[in-house]
Amino acid sequence: MNICVIGSGYVGLVTGSCFADLGNNVICVDNDKSKIAALKRGLMPIYELGLEELVKRNVKEGRLSFSNNLREGVKKSEVIFISVGTPQKDNGEADLTYVEIVAREIALSMPSYRLIVEKSTVPVNTGEWVEHTINVFNKRKIKFDVASNPEFLKEGSAIEDFMNPDRIVIGVKSKLAADILTELYSPLKAPIVVTDIKSAEIIKHASNSFLAAKISFINSIANICDKVGADVGDVARGMGLDKRISKDFLNAGIGFGGSCFPKDLAAFVHIAEKNGYDFGILREVQKVNRSQKRSVMKKIEELLWNLPRKTVGVLGLAFKPGTDDLREAPSLEIIEMLKNEGVHVKVFDPVAMGKARDLLGGGVKFCKNAYETARNSDCLLIATEWNEFKELDFKKIKKLMRQPIIIDGRNIYDPKEMKKLGFKYVGIGRR
Ligand code: NAD
Repeated sequence: MNICVIGSGYVGLVTGSCFADLGNNVICVDNDKSKIAALKRGLMPIYELGLEELVKRNVKEGRLSFSNNLREGVKKSEVIFISVGTPQKDNGEADLTYVEIVAREIALSMPSYRLIVEKSTVPVNTGEWVEHTINVFNKRKIKFDVASNPEFLKEGSAIEDFMNPDRIVIGVKSKLAADILTELYSPLKAPIVVTDIKSAEIIKHASNSFLAAKISFINSIANICDKVGADVGDVARGMGLDKRISKDFLNAGIGFGGSCFPKDLAAFVHIAEKNGYDFGILREVQKVNRSQKRSVMKKIEELLWNLPRKTVGVLGLAFKPGTDDLREAPSLEIIEMLKNEGVHVKVFDPVAMGKARDLLGGGVKFCKNAYETARNSDCLLIATEWNEFKELDFKKIKKLMRQPIIIDGRNIYDPKEMKKLGFKYVGIGRR
């Protein structure tokens, strides 16, 4: 099929490259000129495992191209995916301005039948607004369909997730739209849930909210464990072996971040409220997540006594391992709190240092590796569970630190081992 993907960020670029790899002709469009120029030169705007190779292979084989010209992309393609950002407004609501702009431009550009697919995460009813917007500008009354096809990929394993999804959700109004999308996804061999557009939109918000709730739930359990001297790792294992609960997303820590969970949760709470429903459970999930970061500060304070002029080394900045994405990363909020308390902050992340320099600015020392971060630190905080932090030489780390204190915000170390090595070790809800 000929496909146009509008918005070439984490989702659009991965989606476009994967569709091309499945044998389709794909044009990835973006209005960010520097992004498209870089992609044309073979430079990736984001870090994602395997992406560069995938892009280069499909460009070379003539199935994938990049453009700033939305009109050209829409003219050449019968299926148009919208994967622009849907950021959070101050009141929690999703900002759908980019979606509307793109819908209008599609309406003005389509020469014949087009299937327009929402890939971005959007609140329920957006499909109706997209259809309405296209109708307003579709003066020649060209036939079109709108569909919802939410994306469930995770940064850090995006290509693998796209190619081997647990399920594919397709929300449609017409059989033609269902048939086109079912055929497009047929090589993936995953269960396909075909439903109406509103239900598809809710499936995405409900899934992300449920996962976020699981994290806040286990973080609350960790907080009880901290108070009574139990171990959340054992508790999670004991719970997770129950198939109805499952072990995934039961890792206690300093809270969730990223460009999706916080924003999607806020948008879901907001759209529920707009429709007359108070989604109290989700507001509590948000509250627990906020307090998780503050509780790390409390732990640091308890261990370091007065904070001014102390040095804290932060290992890991990205909101999770495998990505350079810093959007809503818990590390950033904790670093800000530390700076406000007069703490000298040293940081290291295996891939997010470039983006971190732009965001964190002054008052932070950017280190070359974990060892440089540990040097003369009074405390090391693990903020992202990168694999390389699991294999550090802790004898060396201990010698380098001013005080051998580790706050393991992601529970990646064995408390007994760390204590044996002579560290004062504090995890989240661990004995
Ligand atoms: P992103 O910010 O990385 O990419 C969005 C892109 O859209 C940007 O490159 C931007 O320049 C482009 N854009 C904005 N307006 C445009 C316009 N008028 N014309 C052309 N391009 C335009 O965002 P993302 O992380 O890829 O997320 C996109 C959507 O997918 C969001 O709704 C998000 O919630 C959802 N989503 C994200 C993930 C994830 O892990 N990042 C996973 C699933 C769903």
